[in-house]
Amino acid sequence: MKVRVRYAPSPTGYLHIGNARTALFNYLFAKKYQGDFIVRIEDTDVLRNVEDGITSQLKHLQWLGIDYDESVDKINPKYAPYRQLERLDIYKKYANELLEKGLAYKCYCTEEELAKEREGLSEDKANHIHYSRRCLYASEEEKNMLEKRGEYTIRFKMPDNITYTFNDLVKGEVTFASEDVGDWVIMKRNGIPTYNFAVVVDDYLMDITHVLRGEEHITNTPKQMAIYQAFGWEIPVFGHMTLIVKEDGKKLSKRDPNYIAFISQYEEMGYLPEALFNFISLLGWSPEGEEEILSKAEIIAQFDEKRLSKSPATFDKNKLMYINNRYIKELSLDEMVELCRPHLEKSNIIQNHSDLWIRNLVELFHGRMSYGAEIVDLYKEFFITNFMIGEEELAYIKQDGIKATLEVFQNKLRTLDDFNAENIKEIIKATGKETKAKGKMLFMPCRIAVTAQMHGPDLPRVIELLGKEKVLQRLETALSLLTD
Ligand code: GLU
Repeated sequence: MKVRVRYAPSPTGYLHIGNARTALFNYLFAKKYQGDFIVRIEDTDVLRNVEDGITSQLKHLQWLGIDYDESVDKINPKYAPYRQLERLDIYKKYANELLEKGLAYKCYCTEEELAKEREGLSEDKANHIHYSRRCLYASEEEKNMLEKRGEYTIRFKMPDNITYTFNDLVKGEVTFASEDVGDWVIMKRNGIPTYNFAVVVDDYLMDITHVLRGEEHITNTPKQMAIYQAFGWEIPVFGHMTLIVKEDGKKLSKRDPNYIAFISQYEEMGYLPEALFNFISLLGWSPEGEEEILSKAEIIAQFDEKRLSKSPATFDKNKLMYINNRYIKELSLDEMVELCRPHLEKSNIIQNHSDLWIRNLVELFHGRMSYGAEIVDLYKEFFITNFMIGEEELAYIKQDGIKATLEVFQNKLRTLDDFNAENIKEIIKATGKETKAKGKMLFMPCRIAVTAQMHGPDLPRVIELLGKEKVLQRLETALSLLTD
């Protein structure tokens, strides 16, 4: 039997870290077993669908390198259509079959009547109370009256007193009682199916063998199993992946301003898709070996569903930066300049400098960057932000002899015409020779005096990029702080 898995987004929003992880693990599972990975669009929540929901989901999956075998734009006629709103006749047919078999019934109750059943109950109780089965148990006479209302939903009659047990790929054995569920609506008044019904019909007709999805769907599983059983269909293997949490253990929300949730944002900020693929693959899965920097091919080769974590996956921002930095470092300087260019253009930095200057700027920061847009912040930090020497740095340059060193350095720089890194390096050396300052007592004061920082990229190159005028100004400021 060929493995067939699916990622089934609702186009009510864009691809975010959580659903990208679901898609990614399904993709890896399909690749591991030489199966098919399908993207099915679950667009039955018509009021919440967003206009470009489908195209943006597909576009960002592709950007991440999560290639699918079938979807709305990659049709296998045996299984199409891949959009639920184009499959309404199919759901109708199966819902009617359940009606005919007496496994489902028409419910004419209005929203007001249903609300009344819950009246006076606490929210928690109201959520757990089951439908009274009024329409199921109605007398013939009553039924005739109800039918006159015209509009109805179709409710599935949950079997009484049975348990649903499944062996979850991630969580192991899970059991639910049918009593916990109650009769639920499979078709709404408008002829649109509910998620739990449509998902089963589709998974069955699309020959889905394994359903890997987020933990939030685990309580839906008994409802879905009941439908499989009602039709006598084989139940697929379920696997529910644990939550993604923040460093403080709380659930990661796509609205949390401290986290970047959407894949489109990562793309816009100049993250590398390969790095993000690697990072997301580690959200709830771990390779057997120590090495976590793995290419797509390596992840596919090593992926093992038995290593999906049972505890929540932590979204570690430092790890995100670290992994992205590792990939960025592998880029050539040309590639890095291209990655940074749009961000420098947007912030009007490029317009004021030569190509060579931009190239030098990028080269200077390349090794410490994690994404393209970071170049703008680094640039600002170095070249624009008000020059202010902090307490610790000031204490350092107040040490004996440093003032003299900086004055020599300043004088030598002043007379330098060809202000390039090579020459600047020579000047630092010559300053050391003349003042007998060595190592940290030479480089550190120079760095603090021109960048206000104790650490940073290669000093002669920073000085070249800052330019003679700015460097001399800064030295002047630093020296003015050293007069007793
Ligand atoms: N449309 C559902 C969602 O977006 C899919 C759930 C499932 O995979 O069964 O959460």
